[in-house]
Amino acid sequence: MILIDGKKVSAEIKNELEEKIKPLHDAGEKVPGLVTILVGEDPASSVYVNMKSKACLKIGMLSKIERLNAETTEEELLSVVKKYNNDSNFHGILVQLPLPKQIDEDKIIESILPEKDVDGFHPSNVGNLVIGKDTFFPCTPFGIVELLKRYKIETKGKHVVVVGRSNIVGKPIANMMLQKKEGANSIVTICHSAAGDLSQYTKQADILIAAIGRANFITADMVKDDAVVIDVGINRVEDAEAKKGYKIVGDVDFENVSQKSSYITPVPGGVGPMTIAMLLWNTYKSFLKSN
Ligand code: NAP
Repeated sequence: MILIDGKKVSAEIKNELEEKIKPLHDAGEKVPGLVTILVGEDPASSVYVNMKSKACLKIGMLSKIERLNAETTEEELLSVVKKYNNDSNFHGILVQLPLPKQIDEDKIIESILPEKDVDGFHPSNVGNLVIGKDTFFPCTPFGIVELLKRYKIETKGKHVVVVGRSNIVGKPIANMMLQKKEGANSIVTICHSAAGDLSQYTKQADILIAAIGRANFITADMVKDDAVVIDVGINRVEDAEAKKGYKIVGDVDFENVSQKSSYITPVPGGVGPMTIAMLLWNTYKSFLKSN
């Protein structure tokens, strides 16, 4: 079994980007910039936003966090997005989700210029992804594709089974693996909660991608021998021995599934670290396009 080390690959990607940005700094030129908009004080969102900003700064990108209070109206948020749509110092705009109840998330996502939508959630970018055009790929699925590529895992003609159909993971990764392109060209099945006996599908997977949000849900009897297993899940489970009283586990029962898989991502340290690396990549790509 080969452990897919997302921490290592994400560090490689960040180093590659840092090397591209350094000459811009040295020459006193404009550098790629990302603004992250956080509405309210949700602790998890606040942690994510800080991590993204730190990662930007570490590789020499411009980073700004726009913090708005929890009572911000939809109109106010729309006008903040508009301001950054028109600010040429920022090549990426990320509105941290979820948003407070009074704000329509779809409306906000649609207000971001597709050219600055580095999360890849704008309907126009989603459409481009589906029809196989170059676009901003949503960061977590993009990270999965990058891991498969860098570990030289064959995808052409392989049966990819995705469990989960969310707009941020399941649907985009399924569509990306379907494209007639290098690093994809797979036969794809998407499963969800109406699947009934899920194992009849998962057992057929050459590459199994779990994006469910349920701790240790994929057990060894649901996976065929030598499958490639990609675990997207991030779940908190109680752990009396851990300092914080909990630990983070994936959607896959790693201990047992790892014994029969050919490749597997751990949680933490697999898909998770890739998400931020691909966000930085998308911001750099937007910067290049803007020039
Ligand atoms: P989500 O929006 O809650 O979607 C979960 C999907 O799993 C849904 O499509 C749901 O089916 C399906 N599902 C739930 N129970 C099922 C069952 N018993 N059998 C089959 N399918 C089932 O979650 P998400 O946003 O995609 O996230 C999934 C997991 O990935 C979470 O743990 C999340 O924290 C993690 N995540 C990690 C990253 C990262 O950076 N690594 C990024 C995003 C998400 P229905 O559609 O029928 O309800």
